This record gives sequence, structure tokens and C-alpha cells, in this order.
Amino acid sequence: MSDAPKVSHFLRTIIREDLATGRATRVATRFPPEPNGYLHIGHAKSICVNFGLAAEFGGLCNLRFDDTNPETEDTEYVDSIIEDVRWLGFAWDGAVRFASDYFTQFYAWAQHLVREGRAFVCELDAAQMREYRGTLTEPGRPSPWRDRPAAESLALLERMRGGDIPEGRMTLRARIDMAAPNLNLRDPVLYRIRHAHHHRTGDAWHIYPSYDFAHGQEDAIEQITHSICTLEFEDHRPLYDWFIDNLPVPSRPRQYEFARLNLSYTVTSKRKLKQLVEDGHVEGWDDPRMPTISGLRRRGVSPAALRDFVERTGVSRSESVVDLGMLEFCIRDDLDKHAPRAMCVLRPLKLVLTNWPADRREELHAPAHPQKPELGVRMLPFARELWIDREDFRMEGGKDFKRLVPGGEVRLRNSYVIRAESVQRDASGEIVEIHASVDPDTLGRNPADGRKVKGVIHWVAVDSAVDGELRLYDRLFRDAQPDSGEGGFLGNLNPDSLVVLGGCKAEPALARAAVGERFQFEREGYFCRDPRAGAGGVPVFNRTIGLRDTWADGGKGH
Ligand code: ATP
Ligand code: MG
Repeated sequence: MSDAPKVSHFLRTIIREDLATGRATRVATRFPPEPNGYLHIGHAKSICVNFGLAAEFGGLCNLRFDDTNPETEDTEYVDSIIEDVRWLGFAWDGAVRFASDYFTQFYAWAQHLVREGRAFVCELDAAQMREYRGTLTEPGRPSPWRDRPAAESLALLERMRGGDIPEGRMTLRARIDMAAPNLNLRDPVLYRIRHAHHHRTGDAWHIYPSYDFAHGQEDAIEQITHSICTLEFEDHRPLYDWFIDNLPVPSRPRQYEFARLNLSYTVTSKRKLKQLVEDGHVEGWDDPRMPTISGLRRRGVSPAALRDFVERTGVSRSESVVDLGMLEFCIRDDLDKHAPRAMCVLRPLKLVLTNWPADRREELHAPAHPQKPELGVRMLPFARELWIDREDFRMEGGKDFKRLVPGGEVRLRNSYVIRAESVQRDASGEIVEIHASVDPDTLGRNPADGRKVKGVIHWVAVDSAVDGELRLYDRLFRDAQPDSGEGGFLGNLNPDSLVVLGGCKAEPALARAAVGERFQFEREGYFCRDPRAGAGGVPVFNRTIGLRDTWADGGKGH
């Protein structure tokens, strides 16, 4: 992938050194999502880091679902995650993997720990377990079941597995150190009883491994060399290492942590995103206002723009919040370079060229992209009746208004210079039509008499226009820190984050726009064809982003 130039960061340095010193002879990474929601932009970072580093060093990256929590997981999430990783442009090594593929192995390893005196079946309930656990300043107390004979634990574990024991009655715990300063080492739970149906293993299991007991061993089974994760797992590393030290695992992965991606004006927590969906604040996980990969895709963001953004945010071990403006910059930069141009009138007002014959049609041409002649030209039918945008006409101008006023001239983009002569109003006094005259000698050149025409407005011909619905999106939250303030993130929702405009008029070629195809609607912004049709079956275009950053300098959006 020929994305932005790469700056070095600590993970690159570590891998380079590992390869140079022979501590590693190859690079194997993995992306390990839990299938309990759709992926968000933070996950995009983890995907780019893991797949990107593997590719950079000639290694491989696995896609592995950490499906150890049957209640919250679903195949809908599995499918969406697979689609998202592919769309971002990455390919995993071999088949998609699942933690549940290793349930039998984990169970055998749990029995091994019990036999070695390093695990036991505990009958404390959750509240008691908390109480026995101690605090950061006080050591914990051993469970009364800690020294029960291995044979007894093994028999109970088998009954737990078979479904004989009610949920919450027993757990399997490691037997490490109740006085360890690191709370994760105070006899952590390895298995819980859950009489739940699993999306892959069905009803085969009544116990499920904890994330901690599964994670490192999955990496060991898959011969992962560099287990890259986010900083919240740093304190779990000694526990992962303890499992690796005490189990006959086939390899020894090493874990490295980096800081999560946090973005202003954005929530990146699956739980909160799920709440936005379930409470109906957005239309679904792929609502174009969502920071999910599927939302960004539907919005019109390209995979290259997202990869570029992730690369620019770097990789470090210190927590920070990245300005959303940086993502928007990457999106705009990419679209400016690649999106073909088109004209679409958002709030149509009819303009009649009184000196153009009613039966005369002309085919004008404009480049699809001003800097990319290879994208070809587009044909723009021109006729007596045109649509222009209501906002491009005023009865009275002013020195900042460079568009059309009665008696004034503008250039129709890619076309002629026209002069507004008069307006027609309906019974209520609203302007419904503008009568104008066209200067026929101004196609592709300035008026011969040296008149200066400053304004340029866009237009489409009435009889060949395509009807469309435009969806103008803005930031979902008003506050840069959505969680600040009393109502939490739900109290910070931007009521103007979606404006739907019906009856828009687009140039004819847009009827054939493919789903996901991106355009710059000249003077209006970047838009992308939505998968769903609008009212009356018309095509829908989502505004990906405006042409300029209207939030900078204390602006308040579009
Ligand atoms: P969330 O906190 O949104 O629920 P999660 O960490 O529980 O996310 P997982 O499915 O466990 O979700 O995440 C898969 C991988 O993505 C993990 O390795 C995790 O560290 C990484 N990841 C999650 N959020 C971010 C983020 N904001 N920045 C970078 N990596 C992230
Ligand atoms: Mg997680």
C-alpha cells in the first residue's frame, strides 16, 4: 500500500531490534476483537497497527475473534468485523480464527493447572470474592477453598463444565498470591459458569474462560510473536506471563502496549455506541454520523483516508486526545485528490433564459476532475430552463455577495455568463422564477468588452436533472469532550447533526452513480451515494464533509 510516508515509533523500533538480535526470526501479530459490537475508529487504529506492522516486516497477521462471552456476542458482529477489516484493505493469514476453537485446549490446560496445584474450584460468591480480594493498600485473604485437594477440584470442574452447577455457585481460580501488589495476580478467575448458548459452540459448554485466561494462550497457540494491545492491559501482563510460564504452551508471545486512540467530539466505546443505536439517537451502527468503520464507510470516507489518519496519529505510550479536525483534514485531502466533480443544486430555484430558444439544447463539457485529465470529461446538457440554488440569488447584494442580483451578472459554472433581469413571485410573494439573459459569446472565455464577472454559481438543466435526496451530516456531539457535563454523552448530542434535503437536482450522470461512489458537488462539499434510496426511490447522497473546515476559529459548523 503506497500510503503516507512512515515515521518511526516504538513498536517499529522494537520489532526491528528483535529481528536484528534474533530474538524473533519472523513477525506474527493479530487483531483480536470481541464480537460484541461494530468496530469503531479506535479499532481501525489497532487494525492498521497490527496488519500494517506485519506487512512492513514481511510477517503475517491473524484475525481472531475473542468470543469467550456468549451472552453479548453475535454472528452479526462477526460478519461486520470481517467486512470492515477487508474494506480497510487488509488480508489475514489463513482462516478467520476464534477463541472458541481452542475451548478444548483451554480446558485441558485448566486441568493441568489444577493437577499442578496452581488452580482450584472456589465456592465464594461474587460479593465474598470482592471482599477477600483486598485493596491496593491491603493484601487479600485466601479463599477457604484454596487448599482443597486437586482431585476434588477436578471432579467439580467436570461437573461445572457439564452443566450440573448453577451459575455463580462456583468458579475455577488460579492459585497465585493473595498478597500480590498487582491485584490481577490475587487468584484470578479462570472459568465462570454460564448456561448460555454460544454463537459457535452452541450448548456444548457450561463454563467459559475469562478473557485473561484465554488471551495469552490464544497468542501462544497461534505462535504470535508480538502481542500488541492497548495500555489498559499493561497490568495484566504479569498474569499472562504467569500462565505462559506454568502451561505447556507451544510458544512464548510478548505483549507490548500502546495508548488508545481518543478523538475529540467522538465517543469510542462500544458500550456507548451501542446505547446510541439502541436508544434510537442514530439510525443504526452504520449511521454516517457514527465513528464506526461502517458509519465512516457509508459516510464516504475512503479506506486510504482512514489509514492515512491512523498513520499520522502515530503510536505512543502516552494518552492523548486527537483533534477531530485532523481526521477531517485527511478525509478532505483524499477526496480533493480523487473525487470526480459534479453539480447538484440543493435548494432549487428556476431560472429561465429568455433569449435562449425553447427548443435549443446544447451539450457542454467539463473535466471530471480538474487535476486528473485521465478521469475524462462529463457532458452537461444546457437549455433554456435551469435550476440554480436559492441561496445564490438575492434581491439586494452587498459587497460580500458575489452571486446573482437583479441586473447583475454571474458565470454559470462550466458554461456561459448570464444577467438576471426580473423575478416572478407566487401569490404569497415568494420568488419562484428568475428571468435572465445569456451572453452567447462567453462560453470558455471572458466577455469581449472587458466586463469583469466575478461570481460563479452552479446549475443543472431542468429537463435533464436527476432528483436526489441529500443528507447533510455534522458532528454528532456539540462538545469536544462528549462525556463532560451533567447529562454525559447523551446530554451533548448535536440536534443539528442531520439535515435532510429533498428535491435536490443533480446533473444527469448522477443517476448512474454506484453505491459508495464519491463526488465533489462543486461549491457544496463531498458526497457519497448511499446504499438506500430516498423517498420516491430517488438516489440519496450523504455529505461526507464540507469543502472547508467550518469548525475552526470557533465556528459552529455548517
Ligand atoms: P471498547 O472499549 O470500544 O469496547 P474493546 O477494547 O473492548 O473496545 P475489543 O474488541 O476488545 O474492544 O478490541 C479489539 C482490539 O482493538 C483490542 O486489541 C483493543 O486494544 C483495540 N482497541 C480498542 N479500542 C481502541 C482504541 N480506541 N485505540 C486503539 N486500539 C483500540
Ligand atoms: Mg476489550
